[in-house]
Amino acid sequence: MFETLKEQPADKILALMQMFADDPRDHKVDLGVGVYKNAEGVTPVMRAVKAAEKRIWEQQTTKSYTGLAGDPAYADAMIELILSDAVARANVAAVATPGGTGAVRQAFELIRMANPKARVWVSDPTWPNHTSILNYLGIETKSYRYFDSETRGVDFDGMIADLNTAQAGDVVLLHGCCHNPTGANLNLVEWQAVVDLLNARGLIPMIDIAYQGFGDGLDADAAATRLVASSVPECLIAASCSKNFGVYRERTGLLMAVAADAGKTKLNQGTLAFLNRQNYSFPPDHGARVVTTILTDPELRADWAAELEEVRLSMLGLRQQLADELQRLTGSDRFGFIAQHRGMFSRLGTTPELVEKLRADHGIYMVGDSRMNIAGLNSTTVPILARAIVDVGV
Ligand code: PMP
Repeated sequence: MFETLKEQPADKILALMQMFADDPRDHKVDLGVGVYKNAEGVTPVMRAVKAAEKRIWEQQTTKSYTGLAGDPAYADAMIELILSDAVARANVAAVATPGGTGAVRQAFELIRMANPKARVWVSDPTWPNHTSILNYLGIETKSYRYFDSETRGVDFDGMIADLNTAQAGDVVLLHGCCHNPTGANLNLVEWQAVVDLLNARGLIPMIDIAYQGFGDGLDADAAATRLVASSVPECLIAASCSKNFGVYRERTGLLMAVAADAGKTKLNQGTLAFLNRQNYSFPPDHGARVVTTILTDPELRADWAAELEEVRLSMLGLRQQLADELQRLTGSDRFGFIAQHRGMFSRLGTTPELVEKLRADHGIYMVGDSRMNIAGLNSTTVPILARAIVDVGV
């Protein structure tokens, strides 16, 4: 049997990580993998996470199974964090999943189960795992224009034009905030126009929100998700706690199915639990319990939000420093978009050849599509990157 297996394409980002590890140059800079790093290059365990883990260690009396949906208190806490009071709790079905990826995967499975003819529209570009999982599941994928390579902002007219060709029942995958890989985002007026289009054409939104708190703040980053969830008959929301709680390896995510008709919640909840059962039965609990402990304790929650805010502001500071430095070196504003982008990533918008030149000549590693992880920088490496960008002629 094994002899029939074919070599699978390597994950480009993981291959880049390996190349970086093997590079002997000590001035090398890693802007590749999507993990937050502080100025010392460390991905720290957040203070509130440590405190919650201590509390769990002291108080937990069993490791017996939770439910197929995970701990209901986790779903309650996360729904409140993401949706606030935009939607009544009774309208939301939710299950814990192994990370945001697990939520994305389960959402796609639900779409295929509910409507095998539905096509899923993804932004061009999107997080590569979206298309990879859709292809693996045999779901037809369509892409809508998103990134404007001239302005490095959103090609909003192109996006609307493309979504206007979608058929009723198709699903539109949207990044709730901090678009990965570009860093370019819609404003709320544009989001409203997207909502109007979805409703006019009978399209179903699926929101992937993996960076709440990394862009403009916890509430601001959830504003688009809240707007969509409260304005459409039904939507799916896949959330990740990997980044904003720094619990990457604990695999902590949530999938929500929101219906304007609360009468649908029971069936939706049963379906989500069924899908968990088919794939892995009970979702992981440790990360979810840490998150619940933090969100339901006012002191821990305030400390977590404060630390997250420091992370957010440090990335904004690095963006501004890089944009300023490039302004100084080039005498032009053409890199101003770096300060406008939000989240961990910015797409520089250059060719794979120049990305390779940055790596070969300057030891600067970014993904081939020119996605930079801003958190891979610090105040010392920003000027080095700026000079390298100018040197290779981006
Ligand atoms: N969606 C997007 C857009 C992401 O960037 C990520 C993280 N790279 C995820 C989902 C899921 O992350 P995880 O499975 O690690 O929670």
